Parts: sequence; C-alpha cells; structure tokens
Amino acid sequence: MAVPKRRKSHSRVRTQRAHKAMTAVQHQYCTSCGAPTLPHRACPACGHYQKRFYVKSEES
Ligand SMILES: [Zn+2]
Repeated sequence: MAVPKRRKSHSRVRTQRAHKAMTAVQHQYCTSCGAPTLPHRACPACGHYQKRFYVKSEES
C-alpha cells in the first residue's frame, strides 16, 4: 500500500480546509402556498411544481 512520504504540516492542512466551508442550502418559496421549497423539487407542503400539482395532498 502506498504511504505518504511526509506528514502534512498543520499549516498545509488548514490551507486545504480553508476551501471546504459549507454553504447554506438554496431555497425558494412556493408560488402556490408560499412554503419554502428546494429548487427543482415539488413543494413538500402542497405538491405544486411548474404550475401543476404533481403530488395529491390529503385535503383535496
Ligand atoms: Zn406549495
């Protein structure tokens, strides 16, 4: 098995990890009910997506 020749310094490790920050999840608001939804997904609250209802809600 290949083994690294030299250990990475704390500085190198921290420099690598400087680019690994997490970002907040993008979200939009449903045009039908106003609930927050993920982009390119049907609304979890009402099933609305692209002017259509794809998921039957329990009310209707
Ligand atoms: Zn909705």
